[in-house]
Amino acid sequence: MTFTPHGKHLVAGEWVATDTTFSSEPAHGPSHTFCVGTPDLVARACAAAEAAFETYGYSSRESRADFLNAIADEIEARGEAIAQIGTQETGLPEARLEGERGRTCGQLRLFADHILKGDYMDRRHDVALPDRTPLPRPDLKMIQRPIGPVAVFGASNFPLAFSTAGGDTAAALAAGCPVVVKGHAAHPGTGEIVAEAIDAAIQKTGMPAGTFSFIQDNGYEVGSALVQHPLIRAVGFTGSLRGGRALFDLCATRPEPIPFFGELGSINPVFCLPGTIKKRAETLGQAWAASLLMGAGQFCTNPGVALVVKGPQADKFVQATVSALQEATPQTMLTDGIAEAYARGVTDFAKTSGVQQLVSEKCVGRQAVATLFKVSGTEWRANEALSDEVFGPLGLIIEVEDVDEMVALAKSFDGQLTCTLQMEHADMAHAARLMPVLERKAGRILVNGFPTGVEVADSMVHGGPYPASTNFGATSVGTLSIRRFLRPVCYQNMPDDLLPERFQI
Ligand code: NAP
Repeated sequence: MTFTPHGKHLVAGEWVATDTTFSSEPAHGPSHTFCVGTPDLVARACAAAEAAFETYGYSSRESRADFLNAIADEIEARGEAIAQIGTQETGLPEARLEGERGRTCGQLRLFADHILKGDYMDRRHDVALPDRTPLPRPDLKMIQRPIGPVAVFGASNFPLAFSTAGGDTAAALAAGCPVVVKGHAAHPGTGEIVAEAIDAAIQKTGMPAGTFSFIQDNGYEVGSALVQHPLIRAVGFTGSLRGGRALFDLCATRPEPIPFFGELGSINPVFCLPGTIKKRAETLGQAWAASLLMGAGQFCTNPGVALVVKGPQADKFVQATVSALQEATPQTMLTDGIAEAYARGVTDFAKTSGVQQLVSEKCVGRQAVATLFKVSGTEWRANEALSDEVFGPLGLIIEVEDVDEMVALAKSFDGQLTCTLQMEHADMAHAARLMPVLERKAGRILVNGFPTGVEVADSMVHGGPYPASTNFGATSVGTLSIRRFLRPVCYQNMPDDLLPERFQI
């Protein structure tokens, strides 16, 4: 089944063309032409989303669950075509896209089950106490309600699971919020076919047409207009710190500021404790290198930094990592721009004082080769730029004098999506010293694993202190992510007939 995109936008059930176009830049296969959206089109989509909210925001949980399941079915029905266009546009292997499709559909179905259970509404009831002295207590009921139209921006590296029908869209739709997606220019055809699947699900389940719109752009005009549109009530964003911060600032300076839920980049430090380095330096080096190479390092959870206490055992870890990375073959990156940014990042690291480059092959075009650097703890602290994410297969080893310095360095890390402890039982006391520091730095702390796989589950937290995300206390993965698109409302002395129909104690 081949798919040839028509390149139009989807606005409230209608495929709309605009005058200006851009061409996709696939890793292989044909390039296609896509329309560039306009602020007028954004306004149309937002007005339709607000109109849809009047019914969708009050729809039953059962009907929304049917809708989410229907989206998953429609995506699966287009599975082959999605994998074909997705792999052409991104260069990601078909098997990876098939896995990501499974994750995306699983996520939609998980949200369907989650809203049916109903716990997410966090219903509370303080029964009236008319005889209480000195003052009676009114009857108080509280429930979480959907906030209204939500804007969604996906990331280049997850063309399905963090894009058009990804986690943000699934969570917002589950909550009862219509969604307007700004399509990602790195995978516009993949975005279009997934939008088509959502549209088919809308028609199949009789949801209002404005429940979902999708607007393409290869620049910033659509995104900027979208986050500033007065009818948008919140933004779900996955992408770079630079892009996220620009849009976050726009949200904050609106006449009526709105929450911006940005999931941004991270360097995900791995703390290799002495007992581990003593026991399994070589296997740990090989495993870290394998994790760095996954998906050409294009994961927000890529474990870009490893901390070790220097000495002969640490040398074995370094050597094992070097050997594993030197054996790796070049990998295709998602876009020409990302490949250029990676090559620039490598050059900048190499020029930084005190930094030693241990693996250095030149990248050619969109093909990235892995790179490894080493630096002392003192030099790392003196060079702020070494804390920045370089999106790609770049590893940095920080050699510290002792565990005291490791703890001190942990305190100076920026906010992270994840921190990892590589430890043996003998390291328990060191780990216990690090834990209170790491808890304040990251949304997820792992022991003896690597952070690249993010389970979609009730307990998952994919977020963390800024700059890992712009959110306080939120996650973009797992069922808890629905809370971002809900708002508590208290109903005081409210007759049952006026309460949302889902309110049952
Ligand atoms: P990106 O360049 O920030 O793009 C994300 C989206 O934002 C795109 O639609 C992009 O538009 C738009 N955008 C970027 N800058 C903008 C601006 N100034 N104004 C308006 N719109 C703007 O990120 P990416 O390259 O797609 O993704 C890679 C980054 O995402 C990495 O840093 C990675 O770590 C991070 N990431 C984070 C997570 C997480 O969950 N924390 C997950 C995956 C990836 P265009 O399409 O026109 O460029």
